[in-house]
Amino acid sequence: MKDWAPCSLPLPDFMQDKILINDKLYEIEVARADSDHVGYVRLKADRIIIKIPSRISRQEQFDMYRKLIAKVEKYLQRHKNREFHEKAKIRFCSNQNVEIMGRHFSIYINETGSKISKAVIEGDAIKIYLSGGLSKEKAGGIASSLARRAISRVILPDFVSRVEQFNSQFFRSKIGDVRLKDNGTNWGSCSGKNAINLDFRLAFAPQGVRDAVIVHELAHTVHRNHSENFWNLVYSVMPDYKERRKWLSENKHRLAPGCGFEGIS
Ligand SMILES: [Zn+2]
Repeated sequence: MKDWAPCSLPLPDFMQDKILINDKLYEIEVARADSDHVGYVRLKADRIIIKIPSRISRQEQFDMYRKLIAKVEKYLQRHKNREFHEKAKIRFCSNQNVEIMGRHFSIYINETGSKISKAVIEGDAIKIYLSGGLSKEKAGGIASSLARRAISRVILPDFVSRVEQFNSQFFRSKIGDVRLKDNGTNWGSCSGKNAINLDFRLAFAPQGVRDAVIVHELAHTVHRNHSENFWNLVYSVMPDYKERRKWLSENKHRLAPGCGFEGIS
């Protein structure tokens, strides 16, 4: 609760600091949202982080808080048996050479006095320029996130062509954007508009494993659930889907090059 910024309203007293859901105690952390109107909730292994705008009325804050808590409760009810994984974002270090999908990248991280941090791609060099005055932890996080995004721009076309190939061969759905996400929470997702989101970590998995995630998400353009029909479709396209997906579960901790994962030691 300490990160409720001093310029905001005082922390409303209706907010609990712990909640019991499915016999598990979660700590609740409430913080001020960046937006003036939109609040959001994030679920961690044993914490629920709620961000609420400070400029809305107390009643609106209360309503938003209840709504966000209800959303988490509903999610946890639905995913009762699913283990919750902490985020696993790949971390990059300075002077690191990495091979990603057959390409070689060298990452250089420089601190500058400038106000904004940015990444520049020059051939196979990813040069990260960090703004001044960042703590070591924050600088590492920002540098890694800029590196992930820069590398994503280079490798995204490979993912897009793979999605298009499987789609034209087996699904023939109208596909939205294909994006590489770096939030490290799931391997893929498919939106209502058939936008296919794939996790950046997949760049470090073998092609056949990436394909399994792509086939899974494409099958959601036909069945928006995990029904029997959905799985029949997945297995008709990829009979060895299960083995490929198993590789991912067993090797996910090895997918980070060199510097490991953010927040996971
Ligand atoms: Zn699914």
